[in-house]
Amino acid sequence: MTAYLITGASIVGGEVADLLIDNGEIVAIGTGLDAPADVQTIDAQGLVALPGLVDLHTHLREPGREDAETVFTGTRAAAKGGFTAVFAMANTDPVADTAGVVEQVWRLGRDAGYADVYPIGAVTVGRKGTQLAELGAMADSAARVRVFSDDGDCVWDAALMRRALEYVKAFNGVIAQHAQEPRLTQGAQMNEGALSGVLGLTGWPSVAEEAIIARDILLNAHVGSKLHVCHLSTKGSVEIVRAAKRRGLEVTAEVTPHHLLLTEELAASYDPVYKVNPPLRTKEDVEAVREGLADGTIDIVATDHAPHPVEDKDCEWSAAAFGMTGLETALSVVQQAMIDTKLLTWADVADRMSYRPAAIGQAAEHGRPLEAGAPANVVLYDPRVERTVVPEDSVSLSRNTPFDGMTLPGKVVATFLRGTPTVLDGEHTR
Ligand SMILES: [Zn+2]
Repeated sequence: MTAYLITGASIVGGEVADLLIDNGEIVAIGTGLDAPADVQTIDAQGLVALPGLVDLHTHLREPGREDAETVFTGTRAAAKGGFTAVFAMANTDPVADTAGVVEQVWRLGRDAGYADVYPIGAVTVGRKGTQLAELGAMADSAARVRVFSDDGDCVWDAALMRRALEYVKAFNGVIAQHAQEPRLTQGAQMNEGALSGVLGLTGWPSVAEEAIIARDILLNAHVGSKLHVCHLSTKGSVEIVRAAKRRGLEVTAEVTPHHLLLTEELAASYDPVYKVNPPLRTKEDVEAVREGLADGTIDIVATDHAPHPVEDKDCEWSAAAFGMTGLETALSVVQQAMIDTKLLTWADVADRMSYRPAAIGQAAEHGRPLEAGAPANVVLYDPRVERTVVPEDSVSLSRNTPFDGMTLPGKVVATFLRGTPTVLDGEHTR
């Protein structure tokens, strides 16, 4: 295995030091390090070194929709975005609701080698919301599933949600809820408000998300299990989670990069690239989720990377699929929304995008501070450059990025997975 000496990096945005990586581990961090003769040196002056990012919410689409994404292409996109681990959502075809399917996804990830893939198991059989899936068998499988979600659909039946929360306590699992009251969102197309009326698109009220979050926090408090809220998007949701945490109730929550930056006004273009579930909200909501992420109410950023082929997106708004890609732009969007606005430091970003998602998902190999002896899961990021997003530059199989044409700050220069570069910009090596 090649050894790497990374020189002059700002460690998690702080002190400038060198990192020596060998045999899959961080061997040392400091200055004047004793490197082996055949070491490859990477000039990291001006770059920020972060722990490998962990995405708790990725749609890899395999098995079943290999025209949209595969485990190979999706994890390659993840590596390009600085991720060393992704949690793969269960809404595949067949649904990841058995040990067989989650083991298949886990193996495909291991074989691809770009990022560790942690399959998420479905909560209910076929994600149909009527009968609990084999949660224990998935937990005991080689994939060691700890996160369960029917994402794409809400586990709306309160009795079933209660039983799921109770069941996963046996192996310290967590239920990740896609909070969407289905009766309040029938036919919904965009955020409900003055603009949805003007555009003639069926509105998606904030309360449809907030009502489920409130219900689930109370249910979870009753059974004493672990609840995680997916892609929280409204000011009211932030307030509910904040109040729950103040009362000492157990809940964790995520926000997507697109909900940190984009607003519902984009729907006025009727371009389905901006159609997403939950929908883009108002400026006030964006400010609230930023504040929630800054003060720790929202624990993590998760991409909800949702690739779709052209034919599912390049059509009239009401017929188009919900979802946006996000792995390759996540860190840049977080820099723009949270770092450049001084709401977070790089140490906070390491917390929200590496330490905490790894802890929630129980990915022990990941989310470790950069220190000697830790697995060499490392990202080198250049916050000084700017780039215009060009969908065709993506290594994802899909092109549905809402940031098309936008200029975003920053660029991932290198990603290391256990000491092996999955991305390495040649300009910095010597
Ligand atoms: Zn979802």
